[in-house]
Amino acid sequence: MARRWIALAVPAIALAAGLFIPPLVSRSVVADDEVVRWTMVDVSEGDRQGDAHLIEFATTTVLIDTGLEDLARSRLLPVLEQRDVSRIDHLFISHAHRDHYGGLIVLADSGVELGTVYFHKPDPAICKREVPWGCDAAEIDRYTSALRERGVRFGDAVNGMAVDVGSTASLTVLYAYDGGPGSPLRNIDVNDTSLIMRLDVGDVSALFTGDLNRKFGTFLASADLELRSRRLLKVPHHGAEGVAPNEFFAAVDPDYAFVPAPRTLWCSERSQRVRGWLSEQDVRTYVNGLHGDVTIELLPGQPVSISTHSRGACEKQQAKRQ
Ligand SMILES: [Zn+2]
Repeated sequence: MARRWIALAVPAIALAAGLFIPPLVSRSVVADDEVVRWTMVDVSEGDRQGDAHLIEFATTTVLIDTGLEDLARSRLLPVLEQRDVSRIDHLFISHAHRDHYGGLIVLADSGVELGTVYFHKPDPAICKREVPWGCDAAEIDRYTSALRERGVRFGDAVNGMAVDVGSTASLTVLYAYDGGPGSPLRNIDVNDTSLIMRLDVGDVSALFTGDLNRKFGTFLASADLELRSRRLLKVPHHGAEGVAPNEFFAAVDPDYAFVPAPRTLWCSERSQRVRGWLSEQDVRTYVNGLHGDVTIELLPGQPVSISTHSRGACEKQQAKRQ
């Protein structure tokens, strides 16, 4: 593998001040076949947001969400090409909003082979309330039919499901809200139906949370779902208000946070609570809108390695003195 720039220790004070500039050091990544590589692809642009997480294992490739259609084309496909990804074995759509499923057809038509797609859909009545926010049942039906016509297989993500990712790591669906009689809450929104998934590599874990919101986030904070001590957190709902409460973040207790959000959203008042909490807790935070594509490499027994495409901060650089 080619040498790459890796961002390592980041001064907490710089993060707290919103002046995060990751120091760059050169490090050669070895034992390529054992590395699990998670790339938070930057599928945000302007004031538009999206999630797309590529997780490459030794023999298996997983994608969680696709981003919006045009950004899947312009941002996700180039990353897949650059990484030589010709097959995605497991594709999860965390919940039925367009900024998470919009790129499905683009992906299917790109030549990348799709193994099993797990499209976590809510009850139609829940979706119907949220058409303006990107839950379009008719469109989803069109997409899934088009994929079936292309021979793509669909599966159901259920509580406790272990995804087959080989022997060097594990990927588990911790929670898949189905709205059935056993579900703990009623009248939740589409965001709160998001799949909650956990990746384990050695003693390091990452929690994927879709767009988990306040209501179900409050439930999960008090539930025994092995959330605690997960070192890496994919921040839910692009960090924007409505997002899971601080109790949820405290239950997870992350060392690193990864936010798929454009700069305009992350640096706005809508994300103030989450920004403030992560800063107060000295959680090292990476944001698509500030850092571009963010790649996290996990190897059992080794420190977490994080590389970013660019540097950025919410505050504008001070004007140079005359
Ligand atoms: Zn979203």
